[in-house]
Amino acid sequence: MAQFDEAAVRLRLTTDLQQVERDIYARTHGEQAISPSEGIDGTGVTSEQSDEGTALTEYERNQAMLDNDRALESQIRAAIERLDTGKYGICERCGKEISARRLEALPYVTLCLDDQELVERGGA
Ligand SMILES: [Zn+2]
Repeated sequence: MAQFDEAAVRLRLTTDLQQVERDIYARTHGEQAISPSEGIDGTGVTSEQSDEGTALTEYERNQAMLDNDRALESQIRAAIERLDTGKYGICERCGKEISARRLEALPYVTLCLDDQELVERGGA
């Protein structure tokens, strides 16, 4: 028996996927819907005026967030696929069940805590 509520997980994953897709759409269509406003004084600081060397330009920052969003999108899609194929919640390295608490915190995770630590230490 699975250690998680499949319906709840599926709902969470599809909701997250829709959110990240909206995010990607907004960024690739030049909308500033999710743009952080810190450091901008309302006059719209351009890349020429910003502090070169320390601050990323708006474009670079947007691209970086877009990269993050796309990585997240593929993780969510992979998680949904694992749910569809009955492999969700199973560690990709050792084949054991990933703890419910870990899945709750990190719904797209593919490794159990032990293997995650091994990978992060570079001992793969
Ligand atoms: Zn494992």
